[in-house]
Amino acid sequence: MAEKGVLIVVSGFSGAGKGTIVKRIVEENSNYALSISMTTREPREGEVEGKSYFFVSKERFEEAISNGELVEYANYVGNYYGTPRAYVDRMISQGRDVILEIEMQGAIQVKTRFPDAVLIFVTPPDAEELKRRLMSRGTEDEATVNKRMHRAFEESAFVDRYDYLLINDDLDRCVEELHMLIEASHHVPGCSAGLLKKINEQLQIYA
Ligand code: 5GP
Repeated sequence: MAEKGVLIVVSGFSGAGKGTIVKRIVEENSNYALSISMTTREPREGEVEGKSYFFVSKERFEEAISNGELVEYANYVGNYYGTPRAYVDRMISQGRDVILEIEMQGAIQVKTRFPDAVLIFVTPPDAEELKRRLMSRGTEDEATVNKRMHRAFEESAFVDRYDYLLINDDLDRCVEELHMLIEASHHVPGCSAGLLKKINEQLQIYA
């Protein structure tokens, strides 16, 4: 059993299906804690305050930035999005694995601040499928979909900054693979620093 939780960052092109994947893994493992982000974006139909996001004004978001309340934040297609720090710190110290579903600029900030964080990128098998998924969602107009496709093009150059790539052509398999990656990340030595220190001390008599 690891001593503290692992910070897991899941990103992917908008429309890659990461929201569905993350929802599934959180339902299937009660040790995972899903961070709820703060955003200045307008709520979409069916979204719930405090569950989907904390929907705030630009002024409140900028206050959160200057108070150091956010682990990371980014501007994505005209709106701010950020991860509240207090929840992440509390869950990690309780041994929970914290899942952040965030975009790329934020993911890279997390890796800089928390080098042990595990960065996972989700992609559909090709760009055509990405556009099809974005259009079929029906929540955005065509101009916004095109903006998101443009953003995907820009992001595609930086996917190698991630630790792992998941190809979402089969949802069940993708969910299974994500569980496995999280499980594996508990086995990095940094997660068991106390145990390693104890073994080192026990071995002192042979030095
Ligand atoms: P959407 O508007 O579709 O809900 O989210 C747009 C993008 O913002 C998605 O790629 C989503 O993962 C990302 N996002 C959501 N919350 C955060 C956050 O707290 N920080 C960052 N950097 N990106 C976020």
